Amino acid sequence: MNKIVAPSVLAMDFSDMKTQLKRIAVGGAKWIHYDVMDGVFVPNISFGPDLMAQIKKHSEGFMDVHLMISDPVKYFDVFIEKGAQAITFHIESMDSVEDTLAAIKYLKSKDIMVGITLKPGTELSTIVPYLKQVDLVLVMSVEPGFGGQSYIPEMADRIKQLAEMRNLNNYSYLISVDGGINRETGK
Ligand code: ZN
Repeated sequence: MNKIVAPSVLAMDFSDMKTQLKRIAVGGAKWIHYDVMDGVFVPNISFGPDLMAQIKKHSEGFMDVHLMISDPVKYFDVFIEKGAQAITFHIESMDSVEDTLAAIKYLKSKDIMVGITLKPGTELSTIVPYLKQVDLVLVMSVEPGFGGQSYIPEMADRIKQLAEMRNLNNYSYLISVDGGINRETGK
């Protein structure tokens, strides 16, 4: 399967956004990873939908939104409105299986690529009921909350398990890996 590189907006120098976006495009990255933090679900606050709309003005990149917020469903519409093309939310921020399935169904009805994710310490089994429905499974390879952390090598097992489950069941989700990815860990 082809590899997609999705540079994170968290690592961007905002004083020179246009140049940075150009560099991403010239470098060949087709996706832009947009990490939203609310200071409640994670201890840090990043940015909301309005900055994304600004980025969309200067970039053709596929907007891959990762919601690290406590009530993601409440914000689906505004992110879709501002140009999100994929939305990934955390299993830890959902109350029940029914709510989670409804959230997935809603995003699909809006033609949005749907991703589910979990923190490094959350059991992989918590997301198994949704693997058939989702388009993307995001493996957090750092504790969510801050950019610039080191990749947790144990997450390689999780990536492998997800790939095995996909093959075994003929599922179609992409496996996304988020945090501490560089030339070395990316391999
Ligand atoms: Zn992310």
